[in-house]
Amino acid sequence: MTTQSRITGTASQAARNATGKSITAPHTPWPEGVTTRFLTYMGELTGDLNATVDIVDTGIPTDGFSTAICRPCGDSTEHLRTHRPSLLSWAQEHAVTCRALAQPAA
Ligand SMILES: [Zn+2]
Repeated sequence: MTTQSRITGTASQAARNATGKSITAPHTPWPEGVTTRFLTYMGELTGDLNATVDIVDTGIPTDGFSTAICRPCGDSTEHLRTHRPSLLSWAQEHAVTCRALAQPAA
């Protein structure tokens, strides 16, 4: 079974991870400045909804920056906002393959 086939379903169904646990996002606010989030591979497997690659946009769309940062491993990249589609591709590809575990909270 592929990752994609595990998370498909109708809008009325909650997505489930490999163990069948619901991975429906809780109604908690995103970190300040985050405009887009991708759940990582390990986030899906473990149900850890904080294991994400986050996109933060700063400045105006024609003259600002977009930054993608993987919360579990810290890998990141930054582009001019005019090149945001490339950043989104990087973020999504990283999220699909990242196997880093998020550091447990103290
Ligand atoms: Zn990562």
